[in-house]
Amino acid sequence: MKQDTIPKAVCFNGSKFLSEPTNQPETSLAPHNTRDLTKKREDYLEWSEYFMGLAFLSAMRSKDPVSQVGACIVNCDNKVVGVGYNGMPLGCSDDVLPWNKYGQNRLETKYMYVCHAEMNAVLNKISSDVKGCTIYVALFPCNECAKIIIQAGIKHVIYMSDKHASKDETKAAKIMFDLAGVEYRKFVPRQKKIIIDFEAIDWNYPNQDLGQKTDEGRSADGLENLTLEDCAK
Ligand SMILES: [Zn+2]
Repeated sequence: MKQDTIPKAVCFNGSKFLSEPTNQPETSLAPHNTRDLTKKREDYLEWSEYFMGLAFLSAMRSKDPVSQVGACIVNCDNKVVGVGYNGMPLGCSDDVLPWNKYGQNRLETKYMYVCHAEMNAVLNKISSDVKGCTIYVALFPCNECAKIIIQAGIKHVIYMSDKHASKDETKAAKIMFDLAGVEYRKFVPRQKKIIIDFEAIDWNYPNQDLGQKTDEGRSADGLENLTLEDCAK
């Protein structure tokens, strides 16, 4: 039976999740030894960071060797009603279908088969519909996903990167969004990174800090080596 590899630490640096630690000590959350334990935390995730984080966490499930994209749909009550990532259709083995960008013909490329994250998030919805919802996406949606977003009644698109802005697919998506009254804006995180360190989490410690230094001096931070600016390119 195939065994899943569980990363010891996950870092979301505002744009990408990284599962391998580096040696750059930096934290964006106040360590517990400097926190006022009589007051509520101020360094909790904002809703938008939480939802974009879920989109990128979903992206980590993608088998695509080049582009791992995630999407998260949220309703007006800040409830998550759908998540998705780019992958092959159900029942179509991702060991059989190609992951290549190039081939002798289009049938040998992934483009003929991969379902984009936005499509999957809409189809994975757990509510009767997603009318009026907001979708958080890593990349600005392509024209095909824009059609799905519009037809599903989603009214807001929050994206991390618009690196394909010059492509016709993106231009067409924006034309359709403008006509259909779908608002779109770039995600601006308050925190530069989010860390989940499975090794550092100590559930017996009453005021633990996810991803922060532990009593043993073990550090969960330093996982990021990219800036938001890097990832937006
Ligand atoms: Zn798409």
